[in-house]
Amino acid sequence: MRLGILGGGQLGRMMALAGHPLGVRCRLLDPKDPSSSRGVADVLPERYDDPDALDRFVTGLEAVTYEFENVDAAAIDHLEGRVPVRPGRAALEVAQDRLTEKSFFRDHDIDTAPFAAADTLPELRSAVREVGLPAVLKTRRFGYDGKGQAVLRRPEDVEAAWNDVGGVPLLLEGFVDFDRELSILSVRDPDGVIAFYPLVENHHEDGILRLSYAPAPHLTGPLTERARRYATRVLEDLDYVGVLAIELFQVGDRLLANEMAPRVHNSGHWTIEGAETSQFENHVRAVLGLPLGSTAMRGHAAMVNLIGALPETAEILRHPDVHLHLYGKEPRPGRKVGHMTVRHEDPAVVREHVEALRALEGAHP
Ligand code: AMP
Repeated sequence: MRLGILGGGQLGRMMALAGHPLGVRCRLLDPKDPSSSRGVADVLPERYDDPDALDRFVTGLEAVTYEFENVDAAAIDHLEGRVPVRPGRAALEVAQDRLTEKSFFRDHDIDTAPFAAADTLPELRSAVREVGLPAVLKTRRFGYDGKGQAVLRRPEDVEAAWNDVGGVPLLLEGFVDFDRELSILSVRDPDGVIAFYPLVENHHEDGILRLSYAPAPHLTGPLTERARRYATRVLEDLDYVGVLAIELFQVGDRLLANEMAPRVHNSGHWTIEGAETSQFENHVRAVLGLPLGSTAMRGHAAMVNLIGALPETAEILRHPDVHLHLYGKEPRPGRKVGHMTVRHEDPAVVREHVEALRALEGAHP
């Protein structure tokens, strides 16, 4: 079978790798010519807004999916008449705009921080009165990894924050003094069958995911149930097909949805070794209409992102219970160049390994 993927970064690459043993060959479209993906998939280094390129891309494919959410609606229009595009347009529309997304959550009884639109400076002032301080100002579109965000602590910060990120449509949301950050990864097939991975605990630095623990420690049944209900509402309402990630803030026994990603997600990379079927394989299965695989865990896992610099490969591989994934990307500050997954039956051993790995990283800044 042939699957097309819009975007040729590490997520596309890991999907292609997961599809390979199932006899699924992937074709990636990415204008940036992702040389690191060439070895594992066919790569078409062309533009998303070139109809001829899209025609060449889609010929012979069974389905198309994507590895980033800022996919151009016109590209989806062009492809949709030819093959199923999954998870689909509705999911993209919700996820591309933080205001639409937060409103969608609220309309589906999914708890969020208070929020208000702020497209002009007077609107921002009234949003501050509505939401209160401290608050986080975010661009509505094209924000990722904490980019395009400013924290407002005092009324005097409003103008500086506006100067920092203003001039484009914005969303102001209440600053959440969370206990921790969690995410839920779920997957739905075209017949409506849904499977969940366990809730994961995530640690960010400078807005970028550094570390995930799976399952999140100290999970309770009600917490898991709530996260699953949230995911189910999104999946069913959008008639969603594929893997969906929802990022959550835990405050006591409350779960506030921060954002959703209509794709495989960095907080699910541990599933490659830590689950019976990885998020990548289940996404490939779902979008091609194949039966889903078990999401059961194999022991406990943690994932450590490699950001900005490559580690000494041999040093990492010397560690027992550690699996290394390098994406073949040139290191640059803030760039995700790989990740490490630790897996063990005993969560205390997983933590010990994580400490040791992070110390190694510190030795190679
Ligand atoms: P985002 O781009 O919305 O995923 O935000 C990146 C990170 O910034 C999150 O993972 C949080 O650590 C932090 N953050 C975002 N929104 C809020 C908020 N409303 N309150 C507190 N922290 C936030």
